[in-house]
Amino acid sequence: MSQKIRIAVQKSGRLQEQSVKLLKECGISFGNGSSKLKAEADNFPAEILFLRDDDIPEYIEDNVADIGIIGENVFLEKQKESELVLRLGFAKCRLSIAVPKSEEYQSSNWLNGKKIATSYPVIVENYLSKNNIAAEIHEISGSVEIAPGIGLADAVCDIVSTGSTLLTNGLKEVDTVMKSEAILIASKSLNPEKSALLNELVFRVNAVNAAKS
Ligand code: ATP
Ligand code: ZN
Repeated sequence: MSQKIRIAVQKSGRLQEQSVKLLKECGISFGNGSSKLKAEADNFPAEILFLRDDDIPEYIEDNVADIGIIGENVFLEKQKESELVLRLGFAKCRLSIAVPKSEEYQSSNWLNGKKIATSYPVIVENYLSKNNIAAEIHEISGSVEIAPGIGLADAVCDIVSTGSTLLTNGLKEVDTVMKSEAILIASKSLNPEKSALLNELVFRVNAVNAAKS
């Protein structure tokens, strides 16, 4: 019996459109499933699963999906069993520390004893321990940038692309914790047939991206 590789992409959000576009540029055609959970490819042994991006590492670890497209930041935060196969070159952003504009921030020592709001507690914890800083992490799932303004935290660690959201909230970016872009991740336990399908997909992605540059 021939197998299908199950490819997880974001159901809606910043990664969705370009993830679908990339698969289509790779010659994999499927119906647009923004309202559906999954779509079958007509000309490649694949099934596309539309999921919340933050859940994709877990779905791969649980063997519900074989491979997926997510932000590198989410990959690092979730610490699930999967491997980074390929950087895809879109959804480029960074995870940065930002503090109120009026603060005189000279180095990361400023963060000692402070409270940092973030949606990425694992990544921030690693950053703090690497820099020998004792700070309190306050995990919030959205609108992190408003935390200092409402007195919930002294600083934030949040996703930045242009920095305009920080500025409108009276914050300035003071340190980059990590750079991120969309990545292709895969289960570490693909069978030979699915591994071969992954290799074929990687080959096509590389060809598509080479033609663009
Ligand atoms: P939710 O899943 O709750 O809707 P999210 O932040 O996980 O929120 P998106 O906003 O769609 O979902 O972001 C998905 C990924 O896109 C992020 O994890 C990050 O890698 C990347 N990203 C986020 N914001 C930007 C941005 N402003 N510019 C470029 N890439 C971004
Ligand atoms: Zn998300």
